[in-house]
Amino acid sequence: MGKNGILAIISGPSGSGKGTAVEKLLQKGNYALSISATTRSPREYEVPGVHYFFYSKEQFEEMKKNGLLLECAEFCGNYYGTPKAYVEEQLQSGKNVILEIEVQGALQVKKIYPSAVLIFLIPPNLEELGRRLVQRGTEDKETINKRMHRAIEEMEFVDDYDYVVINDSIDTAVEDIDMILRAESMKCSRNKDIKKVFKGEI
Ligand code: 5GP
Repeated sequence: MGKNGILAIISGPSGSGKGTAVEKLLQKGNYALSISATTRSPREYEVPGVHYFFYSKEQFEEMKKNGLLLECAEFCGNYYGTPKAYVEEQLQSGKNVILEIEVQGALQVKKIYPSAVLIFLIPPNLEELGRRLVQRGTEDKETINKRMHRAIEEMEFVDDYDYVVINDSIDTAVEDIDMILRAESMKCSRNKDIKKVFKGEI
């Protein structure tokens, strides 16, 4: 009997490098990324079904009503949510599942899955965050301001998380996240069957 995978939630201000960190983490193997549903319009480079499932507000509300979302939240005027079925299937098959979601959703998931590991990824400081958002060039000035403001609000939630990782260098941050999740997988509480496995009973 295989053990369930770990549900890892990575949050952090817009521009903290979550997207890149997750991409690099996926290259390491035993991780599955949950693709979110959103009502936000696609960015130029975004592919439906790869980066997000893009829905109208009505379609999103229908999914929510039918209980298909594990969690959902509004962020800077758009809705975002995690499709439930994929997460459950992957965890049961022993894969570690990554949710790259914002704080309100993360706290909803922690209530449903208390063993979920909550990781907060932050840039070294606010000034650097602003610089990265401008450099990214995917949002207009008003949206950047909104997101900077939201970043300050989101930092208040850091105490609700299990780990904080500072993204000064992306490769180090990815190693840190991978190390956290490898250590989590070795927790005795996540290895309840180890005695039976040791004796060859299962
Ligand atoms: P963006 O518009 O930059 O892609 O995402 C905006 C914020 O929404 C980010 O903080 C991102 O992590 C978060 N987000 C993406 N997908 C989900 C989701 O399924 N649920 C929640 N609660 N937040 C999400």
